[in-house]
Amino acid sequence: MAVYLDYNASAPINSEVLDEMVCTYKNSYGNADSRTHDFGEKARSVTENARHQTAELLGVKADEVFFTGGSTESNNIAILGLREYAEMTNKKHIITTAIEHHSVLNTVKYLEKTGFTADYVLPYEDGRIKADELLSFVKNDTLLVSVIHVSNETGMIQPVKEIGEELARRNVLFHVDATQSCGKMVEEIKELKYDMLSLSAHKFQGPQGIGALILRRKKYRLPPVKNIMYGGQQEHGLRPGTTPVALAAGMGKASELALKNYKKNHEHIARIKKVLIEELNNSGVHFKFNGDQDYCSANTINLQFEGVSSEALMISTKQYCGVSNGSACTSKDYSPSYVLKAMGLTDDEAYNSVRISWGPDTELESVKSNFNQLLKIVKEFQ
Ligand code: PMP
Repeated sequence: MAVYLDYNASAPINSEVLDEMVCTYKNSYGNADSRTHDFGEKARSVTENARHQTAELLGVKADEVFFTGGSTESNNIAILGLREYAEMTNKKHIITTAIEHHSVLNTVKYLEKTGFTADYVLPYEDGRIKADELLSFVKNDTLLVSVIHVSNETGMIQPVKEIGEELARRNVLFHVDATQSCGKMVEEIKELKYDMLSLSAHKFQGPQGIGALILRRKKYRLPPVKNIMYGGQQEHGLRPGTTPVALAAGMGKASELALKNYKKNHEHIARIKKVLIEELNNSGVHFKFNGDQDYCSANTINLQFEGVSSEALMISTKQYCGVSNGSACTSKDYSPSYVLKAMGLTDDEAYNSVRISWGPDTELESVKSNFNQLLKIVKEFQ
């Protein structure tokens, strides 16, 4: 059977998480905002427990966790939700990077059409942006800086720690898209300074369709972000709509498990990376890593196979490995990856690139044998 190596697109749900969700669907089916009966109370208590579990994973307070439908929604709220504040303060400049996920890039581009200005900081060939360079774009009217923690395409870890520390000194709002690092870089995230942070449960073996926006309090005040949808008072009005109790329970359980197991998980995923690199080096195929592996997440490799189109390779190796050639959100689009292009790759180099990503329950032996088959096919193509 083919091995699934596309965890950055979505990780399979953990079986304990699934059990927790089934149990919640069966037993806590009330509306968490119903105040007139115990069924509502029960659903509320499940939801609040999940909020605490998520908060604990991130090292924040439970009242700083706002459930959303996932990172796309969190990123939209974090950026669009500042419009009123921007009008009030006349701060309408945004700094982000050219390698953000589309849920940040397209949101900032939309704001540019409505009177905002933006700078998109480019990465270097190593796949990273430079903190100093990004900070040099800060102006008096800078409203927000938004930076991805770990690139979903390349796995490259961005210098959000340095950026956050400096922005806190300068009092500029900072949003971190931690979708790919949440549940994996547990200690690193706790050390970050930020105002807002986005996460999606399905990237750390929770369910699809739920995530959170973390809003950090400074001197008891939350960042000046407002709701972008109108409805009820759920999530303090920031994200109206009936709270999906079982999804919340699933994210809570996934958070609890990630917190309990992250060291063990890290060892396992780092071991898989080591084996993949050994296999690559021993295979005799011509390849090149995209991004400096010293700064790459332990669960991702993005690489180019010289002269081998990723589309052709993925079709020919489907029975062995499920890999991808970029973000799943753009996989209907045959243009070369904008992230790789921003790093300076040529169109051909980007077309020849594949992303391989795995997780805590990926089996080493299965990766080894299937990846070897893929490498044999690469060799035939070369
Ligand atoms: N940001 C990053 C870095 C991501 O990898 C993704 C998912 N690919 C998102 C945001 C959006 O997450 P979701 O699709 O769960 O809304």
